[in-house]
Amino acid sequence: MLRWRRPQLPEELIIAGRPVPVVATRRPMARGVRLRASAIKGRIEISLPPRGGEDVGAALLKAHHAWIEAQVAKWPAPIPYAPGAIIPVDGAPVRIDWQADHPRTPVLAGDALRVGGPLSLLSGRIERWLKARAIADLEPATRRLADQLGRPLARISVGDTSSRWGSCAGARSGDGARIAYSWRLVCAPEWVRFAIVAHEAAHLVHQDHSPAFHALNRQLDPRAGEARRWLARHGAALHWVGREA
Ligand SMILES: [Zn+2]
Repeated sequence: MLRWRRPQLPEELIIAGRPVPVVATRRPMARGVRLRASAIKGRIEISLPPRGGEDVGAALLKAHHAWIEAQVAKWPAPIPYAPGAIIPVDGAPVRIDWQADHPRTPVLAGDALRVGGPLSLLSGRIERWLKARAIADLEPATRRLADQLGRPLARISVGDTSSRWGSCAGARSGDGARIAYSWRLVCAPEWVRFAIVAHEAAHLVHQDHSPAFHALNRQLDPRAGEARRWLARHGAALHWVGREA
């Protein structure tokens, strides 16, 4: 039996010696083939229509090779959780000071994060510490603004989202809203983190991005615009904290 051989898309490209994943996704509503370079996920993304398109995708990868190279060159450097590595905490550089006999629970001492225990558990310890620090900062700041606005809050949580720094759901429900943040905000300066808190708190009152929303947002946080510009410029780098490659 004869079969058409399906054209294949590569699973990764080697760009300047660096392996870069290529992820193809079928989109039911897509009419054509689209190519994106995601600085947040560190991968090339191809969206395909419901059927076919692999040949067009492969041709796009070839035709736009120089553009892909230029994009990848602009991506932030990965910062694995390794002894001696410098990670941003509250927007300031912090060196991972690992010694097997240091206390196992990380302790921030000046610009060093002292942590001990087996090296194989270092990554998990540091990331748990960052998440705990994120929620310890974001939760009271959010509750304070919700109280100020007289709006009930059901739950505040942190996760690792790539598309949004924060989200607010259920603001109209009687049980109170659920606000979720990216834990990576703990790496950003405090005033940038607060801008996201103020944005989500303003959604407790306005579930849109109307002029009324922006007016309340500016009232809660006069530096909202400045923070948005900071995140547009430095936000992608926060997604490379704790990454091996
Ligand atoms: Zn919003």
